[in-house]
Amino acid sequence: MAVTTVSVLGATGSIGTSTLDVLRRNPYAFRVVALTGHGNVDLLESQCREFAPELAVVADAERAADLRQRLAGAGLPTEVDYGAQGLDAAAGADAQITVAAIVGAAGLRPTLTAVARGRRILLANKESLVMGGALFMAAVERSGAELLPVDSEHNAIFQCLPGNFSRGRLVDSGVSRVVLTASGGPFRDWAADALEGVTPEQACAHPNWSMGRKISVDSATLMNKGLEVIEAAWLFGVEPAHLDVVIHPQSIVHSFVEYADGSMLAQLGNPDMRTPIAHALAWPRRIPAGVPPLDLVRLGQLEFRAPDTTRFRCLDFAFRALREGGASGAILNAANEAAVEAFLQHRMPFTRIADIIAAALDEFGGTDAADLDALLALDRDVRSRARAMIAQCAGGVQ
Ligand code: NDP
Ligand code: MG
Repeated sequence: MAVTTVSVLGATGSIGTSTLDVLRRNPYAFRVVALTGHGNVDLLESQCREFAPELAVVADAERAADLRQRLAGAGLPTEVDYGAQGLDAAAGADAQITVAAIVGAAGLRPTLTAVARGRRILLANKESLVMGGALFMAAVERSGAELLPVDSEHNAIFQCLPGNFSRGRLVDSGVSRVVLTASGGPFRDWAADALEGVTPEQACAHPNWSMGRKISVDSATLMNKGLEVIEAAWLFGVEPAHLDVVIHPQSIVHSFVEYADGSMLAQLGNPDMRTPIAHALAWPRRIPAGVPPLDLVRLGQLEFRAPDTTRFRCLDFAFRALREGGASGAILNAANEAAVEAFLQHRMPFTRIADIIAAALDEFGGTDAADLDALLALDRDVRSRARAMIAQCAGGVQ
């Protein structure tokens, strides 16, 4: 079997380390050519020692010098680079697969660089699609890149769609509805007034999934599901009217596809990102992921209920952004990232996150961005406006 080369952007994160675990379990099938981290030099050093990539990338010159020194004399083929140019080199590396797992808007430019190469992209960085869906999908179309979703819901949908499915042709494929499942996050059953005082630690303690801090907060506000609705709309070409969200506390059914004949297909599995990662790495084959099989008898029951958008307003904002079109996704995303960052730094209460996003959508609504530079400029403008609103926020925590 031929060895497939892989570049992992965001290797030191939650998705990055899960990806490397799947690669570790399939050593004869894959070879790592590039790894990028940002601040975590310790972890990147040990990943370089284990996977011996040709390129390793960190945030800045100081960390690069540190990593170079640590790796000196280890006999590795690893060049160390940093910053935007380093990310560009890793994204443009000659790899058959690029895993796009940087968190947030910082992932957009490197992911687009990888897309332009026209090879296989494993997309975890949903923010890049939310920010620039039209631009992103046009780039995919141009380069002929093979875009495979790693986000568990979208990977599940991909697995449940028919072989003849093509973007935007739901009806021709017999698909009537796409339903994303959501765990509901750690505050699923909390009363509205209890949400005011939640701490970052509580928000990051997800009941089912172990993830990075930013996406954990997104999960707790339901913004993550909102971002995923927009992600699904772009990935599969599904109109908002054909997209639905269902709360499923056990996180066993990862999403559904409903067909015109009344059939509903679902993908089930333990909540472990190594399953969708392994699926996308090997597709259309299947490889071991280290995930134990589901024991449905032991689980006993699976529950489903409607989301409560009174307590969790962020989900509605995503549908609003989809309806409004233009650069609404970028506005929503920038405001959310600024608000989540402030909440994680104890500068703002949890419940203000939704207020900041709503205010940004009101203020910047109708703005469009014709190209990547305009999109990144809008991202900066919305962030700085959101930060000003946060600074004015009287009810800071602690
Ligand atoms: P983490 O915070 O765990 O990891 C983020 C990665 O990006 C790390 O490698 C980090 O480096 C790097 N990074 C952070 N900031 C920058 C920057 N400015 N420039 C370059 N690299 C940077 O995030 P997750 O792994 O949880 O999430 C990654 C992406 O995958 C997100 O878009 C998320 O929405 C998506 N996703 C995650 C899931 C999960 O289960 N975790 C599930 C589905 C989607 P370092 O740590 O060295 O600073
Ligand atoms: Mg998901």
